[in-house]
Amino acid sequence: MSQDPDDSSVRRRVTVTTVRRRSFAVVAPRQVSPSVRVPCRACGGEVDAVTPDAASEILRADAFRLERLIAAGLVHGIATASGAVWICLTSLFPEANP
Ligand SMILES: [Zn+2]
Repeated sequence: MSQDPDDSSVRRRVTVTTVRRRSFAVVAPRQVSPSVRVPCRACGGEVDAVTPDAASEILRADAFRLERLIAAGLVHGIATASGAVWICLTSLFPEANP
């Protein structure tokens, strides 16, 4: 049994399927404000905050992981009167805070 590795007969088909669509916030700044200033109790002052969606994007984590991080206190979630939650931007980058 001899198998000649005949490269010429081997056709490599590289199929690149782009199914992932990145949902970057490329919208006009006025349409959706990427961040707001909110008082973060954990930080003890006003911080920049982003939506949970944006935070997930920044963390490259899904919503479940983000929720767990908030529950663990690693990420600061700031609830508004309406029940909506903003994510403390400062808490996303712990290494930037001594
Ligand atoms: Zn905070």
